[in-house]
Amino acid sequence: MSPFKISSKVKKKIGKINRKDDNLNYSLQPFVTKWLRDHPPKLSYKLKPPEMSFETWKQQVKKLILKKIPTLEPLPFNKQKFKMVGETTSNGIKFIQFSLMTIPGLRVPGIMCIPENIEHKVPACICIHGHGQNIYNTVGMKKSKNKEYFGYELAKLGLITLSFDWIGSGVRESFKNKYLYFLQDEGQRSNWLRFIGLDMLGLRITEVQTLISFLENHDDVDPNRLGIIGHSGGGTLSLFATVFDDRIKVCATSGYLSTWDHSILAMYHCGCNYSADLRKYLELYDVYASLAPLPLAITIGEKDKIFPYKGTKISIPIITEAYQETNHPENLLIHVQEEGHRFSGEKIYPFILSYI
Ligand SMILES: [Zn+2]
Repeated sequence: MSPFKISSKVKKKIGKINRKDDNLNYSLQPFVTKWLRDHPPKLSYKLKPPEMSFETWKQQVKKLILKKIPTLEPLPFNKQKFKMVGETTSNGIKFIQFSLMTIPGLRVPGIMCIPENIEHKVPACICIHGHGQNIYNTVGMKKSKNKEYFGYELAKLGLITLSFDWIGSGVRESFKNKYLYFLQDEGQRSNWLRFIGLDMLGLRITEVQTLISFLENHDDVDPNRLGIIGHSGGGTLSLFATVFDDRIKVCATSGYLSTWDHSILAMYHCGCNYSADLRKYLELYDVYASLAPLPLAITIGEKDKIFPYKGTKISIPIITEAYQETNHPENLLIHVQEEGHRFSGEKIYPFILSYI
């Protein structure tokens, strides 16, 4: 009931707005879709002038990403205050649960899997789960809906693995408000960080860099043979950490290859996917392309609904071309599996093993 004395006839007489009217648009999504079409990323590999060397373009991209995503100073090995939680051996693997300080005031929990009876230093791989999963999934102690068991499986293949829970996941948080999506609280914290001049992806990258320093100083690890692997949100972090840190010698992602236009800008995705105004300058394929000629393995499902194959198809030739331009096409592996948003190590494990 209106508080004013206006006859209901008046409302009738002024007509109705139909947001589905042809040629008229009131909604944000179509506006954004058109905006993206009219505003291709300015620093895209697709727009690189032929006279510009690949290295010049690559350095421009790296400089931009480093400027746009704020990170903090990672803690050096001697300040990480390692805390042992427990260890045991099973199935030929030594499992060590620990925590260490990555940034003053912030600790990361992790599990290392070390193959039994190693006689000399071996390569190591940082393992990063996706949303809704945790370290117990990656090391095979808990069932993983997306088959993210790389922490365990790579250790069985002879590597030392370090799985950790990223900020907002696993044992690190207990969210009381579930709302519509169980992820919403973790995504909301990305807004907090942006609001105070930090960035969720940037903090997570800082943590990865601290963990790399930890691995470099581990008695059983060959510091020149370090890799990173992650599924979905863990793929995002693996990719961007590799842009930031040259100590990573091979990068593997799963469930994170489409275009941003077809994925995080076309449907609901967690808030932690959005850093600064990156899409103004780059598409996801540009970030991948900028890694060339570093060994890069990508696996993606044809039926992936949240990183649609429509965008993957556009991305593959662009990344491939970048690796060809650097004369190292063999350093790129893109494995398209037939299922959806799940991990597959079938092709990328041998690739990782051949490079570290
Ligand atoms: Zn998130």
